[in-house]
Amino acid sequence: MKNLHQTTTGTREVTQLVRGQATSDGDGVKLTRVIGGRTLTDLDPFLLLDEFGSDQSADYIGGFPSHPHRGFETVTYMLEGRMRHRDNQGNEGLLVPGSVQWMTAGHGIIHSEMPEQEEGRMRGFQLWVNLPAKDKMTAPRYQDIAPERIPLVEEAGGVQVRVIAGTHVGAGGTETRGPVEGVAIEPLYFDVSLPAGASFEHALPADHSAFVYVFEGQLKLGERASEAVRGDLAVLASGDRLLAKADVAPTRFILVAGRPLREPVVKYGPFVMNTRAQIIQAVDDYSSGRFA
Ligand code: MN
Repeated sequence: MKNLHQTTTGTREVTQLVRGQATSDGDGVKLTRVIGGRTLTDLDPFLLLDEFGSDQSADYIGGFPSHPHRGFETVTYMLEGRMRHRDNQGNEGLLVPGSVQWMTAGHGIIHSEMPEQEEGRMRGFQLWVNLPAKDKMTAPRYQDIAPERIPLVEEAGGVQVRVIAGTHVGAGGTETRGPVEGVAIEPLYFDVSLPAGASFEHALPADHSAFVYVFEGQLKLGERASEAVRGDLAVLASGDRLLAKADVAPTRFILVAGRPLREPVVKYGPFVMNTRAQIIQAVDDYSSGRFA
């Protein structure tokens, strides 16, 4: 007989390596779609992951003019550059390098995300996180997190971990909590930097979905030492521990995990609901001005 406990403890191995697809969104912003494209349509509860990065202003200057969202959360992590956010409720904020915006769209917002620079480098990620059915029509909410509110943990060997969401547990059991609060899927979102030759190990909830996206250098993951290079997203099997080693080069990656919702997903552009009828309602609410 299968012992469920045994299937979920142990080191997480790579089940799939995904390369993003070059695409554009908004008003011609060039980006790489890693989750939400044809190769990996979603990774419950994660609906989309885009990496953007360019020092050519033509690749980003159009920004993301006014558009709606309903039924999920958008998480923007800026590495470089500045982006101005405005919504139809009068909320406004500036995303600066190292900042995070965790936006719960809930029943609906209409917003724009526009570059606040005409030259220089713009670089970061946007992740879409699904909401459970019971929260899809919740009131919109913003967590605008300044860079200084994101703890930087320094481990032995020069390892650095920016704890955006979830709790980092260091050697000796020291706990460092990220600033993101009250998210249904209990997210963990770390930005990890490893010098060449360094390793990173961390506990993960065994049954949460998890992935690593390498954005500098290269990694070996799991006991099998599966290789993941810059631009690879590694989907991880269940297990209660991550093991990552930067063999040959300084390496930086995001580690993201969350509780899968296991609910029906019906996506239509910026609306993500559970049924077709709810999508039709969202389109109707938006086009008739009843949105938000
Ligand atoms: Mn948006």
